[in-house]
Amino acid sequence: MNYVFPPPVQVAIPIAGSQRLFPVRRVYCVGRNYADHAAEMGADTREPPFFFSKPADALVPGGGDVAYPAATDNLQHEVEMVVALASGGADIQPEQALDCVYGYSVGIDLTRRDLQQRAKEKGHPWDMGKGFDQSAPIADIQPLAAVGHPAHGSIWLKVNGQLRQNGDLEQMSWKVAEIIAKLSAYVALAPGDLVFTGTPAGVSTVRRGDLLEAGIAGVGELKVRIV
Ligand code: MN
Repeated sequence: MNYVFPPPVQVAIPIAGSQRLFPVRRVYCVGRNYADHAAEMGADTREPPFFFSKPADALVPGGGDVAYPAATDNLQHEVEMVVALASGGADIQPEQALDCVYGYSVGIDLTRRDLQQRAKEKGHPWDMGKGFDQSAPIADIQPLAAVGHPAHGSIWLKVNGQLRQNGDLEQMSWKVAEIIAKLSAYVALAPGDLVFTGTPAGVSTVRRGDLLEAGIAGVGELKVRIV
């Protein structure tokens, strides 16, 4: 190929119990999908879901060290179940949506809350609050055959051993099938897409040196050190 410089390396997530990798195309996120988190953000808890994106190269496969990002005094964690798609399409019906799923993982939607808040106030885009470098640590992906479609079970996050978020997947306002269907009404989904499905209440500010441990019952766990 006649590129003017080498193209970026394909971002990929390890698959649990396998030597194979899940190649990532796009990363979508759902805003406010647990009523208790919407309430703590001062938002209407009955609003339909809305979506934003992170760059695929913001993923941090397997977690580990994450550099404290520039330009913020308020870095916050949001533990989320992540859906990995093996197929896609546009205008997917909820009844067919789960057929697109390859598997599930645990992710942390790291957020520069001060930048996001300022963007909300001014009606500006959220990108700089949400889509920064290393803003999306993610555990290995569990294939469907291993975990099925998790619809209930604990979703939690600890900071330095202290439980900060402690919800249940059944609190999701919009379920996985509905999320895929609604998202596919805006954009054509494709193999390699990931969807972060929102966070329960308890988001809090973290600092350099903090250890974040997150998990979803039956799906996996993830550790991140802010350095
Ligand atoms: Mn989030």
